[in-house]
Amino acid sequence: MLYSKAINSFVDLLFPRSCISCSSHLDFYEKMLCLNCQLELPQTGFHLEKENPLYKKLLLNFPLENAAALFRFQKEGSVARMIHQFKYNRQAKIGRYLGKWLGYTLMESPYFKSLDGIIPVPLHPSKKRTRGYNQAEIIAEPLAKQLQIPLINKSLMRVKKTKSLARIDHDARWKEVDEAFAMKQPLPKSFEHLLLVDDVITTGATLNACACTLLKNSQVKLSIVSLACRL
Ligand SMILES: [Zn+2]
Repeated sequence: MLYSKAINSFVDLLFPRSCISCSSHLDFYEKMLCLNCQLELPQTGFHLEKENPLYKKLLLNFPLENAAALFRFQKEGSVARMIHQFKYNRQAKIGRYLGKWLGYTLMESPYFKSLDGIIPVPLHPSKKRTRGYNQAEIIAEPLAKQLQIPLINKSLMRVKKTKSLARIDHDARWKEVDEAFAMKQPLPKSFEHLLLVDDVITTGATLNACACTLLKNSQVKLSIVSLACRL
């Protein structure tokens, strides 16, 4: 134990790492985020409350079992900065790290127990090529491992190339994602309850479009999780 601590400290001296949120130097026992930032990030605690504000917001648009998000999303806050790095600067490791954190959170929750599979919100293939990966899939991979359920990424697909929703107003978003998704392969008949995963939930327009496509084409029940949400 002491021996590995010494090796880690030595590796740290040679290859100093910095916190992805505040850029301060990381100690060998810290992964990606310094302890201070870990404690200060605005966690929602929604996984411990069935009728939480995100659940109530999404329920206005489609039927769902449970909803949770790890953090509150504030413009220009540390969560927004990390997610920006993850999505637009090819920092998939940030998404894997936060996805694992989300997984541990869901394992503490009494509401995400009876799931049969995980569906990441799909990206249009051309956007996936440009970005290098689908960010929702990067988050969903560690979740699938921790919850020990399959990742389903060949059933739901994005058929319409939508504009970046961050740049258009509230009403236009709903119109933009309308009919953006379709089923490419039917879901296995044995699946009763699926977890739909996205990076950030703002208006809920994208999730609503995905959920409507899934609910129209199968008998499944849906639950939702994301790294962050704006209410
Ligand atoms: Zn920090």
